[in-house]
Amino acid sequence: MAETRGVVYLVGAGPGDPGLLTRRGEAVLRRADVVVYDHLASSRLLELAPASALRVCAGKSIGHCTMPQDAINALLVEHALAGRTVVRLKGGDPYVFGRGAEEAEHLTRAGVPFQVVPGVTAAIGVTAYAGIPITHRDASSAVAFVTGHNDPGGPSASKRLDWGALAAFPGTLVIYMGVTRLASLCKTLIQHGKPATTPAALVESGTLPRQRTVTGTLANLAERVAAAGIRPPALLVVGEVVSRRPSLCWFEDLPLFGQRIVVTRPVEEDHRSATLLESLGAEVLAAPTVTIQELESYEALDEAIASLPAFDWLVFTSVHGVAAFLDRLDRLGHDTRALGSVKLAAIGPATAEALRRYHLRADLIPSSFRSEDLAEALIPQVRGGRVLLARADRGRTVLKETLEPICHVEQVAVYRNADAEALPEAVAARIEQGSVDWITLTSSAITERLYSLLSEVGRARVGHEIRLASLSPITSETARRLGWSVAAEAQEYTWPGLVDSIVAAVTASRAGGTVG
Ligand code: SAH
Repeated sequence: MAETRGVVYLVGAGPGDPGLLTRRGEAVLRRADVVVYDHLASSRLLELAPASALRVCAGKSIGHCTMPQDAINALLVEHALAGRTVVRLKGGDPYVFGRGAEEAEHLTRAGVPFQVVPGVTAAIGVTAYAGIPITHRDASSAVAFVTGHNDPGGPSASKRLDWGALAAFPGTLVIYMGVTRLASLCKTLIQHGKPATTPAALVESGTLPRQRTVTGTLANLAERVAAAGIRPPALLVVGEVVSRRPSLCWFEDLPLFGQRIVVTRPVEEDHRSATLLESLGAEVLAAPTVTIQELESYEALDEAIASLPAFDWLVFTSVHGVAAFLDRLDRLGHDTRALGSVKLAAIGPATAEALRRYHLRADLIPSSFRSEDLAEALIPQVRGGRVLLARADRGRTVLKETLEPICHVEQVAVYRNADAEALPEAVAARIEQGSVDWITLTSSAITERLYSLLSEVGRARVGHEIRLASLSPITSETARRLGWSVAAEAQEYTWPGLVDSIVAAVTASRAGGTVG
């Protein structure tokens, strides 16, 4: 009967950056039937679970969806006994100040099998991203993980920490859950003999783009933290290692660190786009204005595929166009041999890269990546020939119009663009508050759609608190026509080109003395 029995995985989600989940954590999430998660776990990790998985928020200490520990325990047991694969996703590591042991003990009592997938605990992850090495051959050969929170009514009350021993501890102290009692923690350590000059740091929302670090000494840290208005979750680090930070501060020095960027591309293209921005330290907010959908009728496309041998050139103007065309070929029972000797053109490197995934090489990529440049590059090649343009069901028609006088051109839709009905509520609210820094615009259609989806208040923020980054002069022109100014424009009309233009603008405004 083993296969009908469920199992609970206690999984450490890491301190915030979704990239810090372990590979085993990802593997079990991908086959979860139920995910019970804490407020600390990144919401991006929930996307790894199957769409059909039940997601239950059990966040325990901050804000909403508070669920008592007994209810969490009962929930885990109930789903596991019903034969489901349950992932209990907890911030950091499940066994470091996370009550993971209590949950595991409860499962044992209930006869439910469990496994633990360790996670990167805050003391390891948050400090590394803050540029603080918790050990150093010259500065610290020991580390203590300490809780700064003692529940006065709970069982730990009788096990009060020995602050005298901690003050004398010959190494780094990493104190969790200490931000609300920071002043008294620092004072207690000094009273027990720790030098008031000991370097100390408090790191807020470590490993996330909104990470903030305040440094000082045991004597003055609390005052500085109060002035900075630091809020939980925050981690206190006390010890000589804190003074190593200036030369090891890599994360906060990333070129787009702290920049909050709204990406308006269709969700299918969004993940790769987001990864590049995040690797430069930005926070990405997805707000697709257009979605990519299947065609309502495949008649025209199937006809075009059947007559492929009659064409000299097949032209792709988007990554999705490549995928949709080749998927259709496959569904019709063909493979890439059906392309025969037709030559392939791609509008830019990303589209050419999409062809490479099917082991196809583009015969032509223009040196610049707009429809006009593609048309110009094609003209000498296609004169008198037959050209098939595989594209979305709508968009600019400049390619067809330019080539038509010199060759036979057919245009076929391989996928459909549909307008999003609304922006995600949370993103719309942040735009209205002016609490994002950039919005990216990757086509005229997206720009127009964004304009119509924004409220008056949201539109008015654009060009002021919120800067626009555009993919090409044509997209910029559309934005200007709508009354918006454009702060950054890609020199190379690709996503990496657009990201470069944001980096250049941010670097310039930082160098210009804006407080960063
Ligand atoms: N199991 C978790 C800790 C849970 S206790 C782990 O292993 O990390 C919650 C405390 O962890 C917070 O009060 C804070 O002190 C610390 N913490 C967790 N994530 C953090 C983050 N991203 N930045 C700063 N501190 C964090």
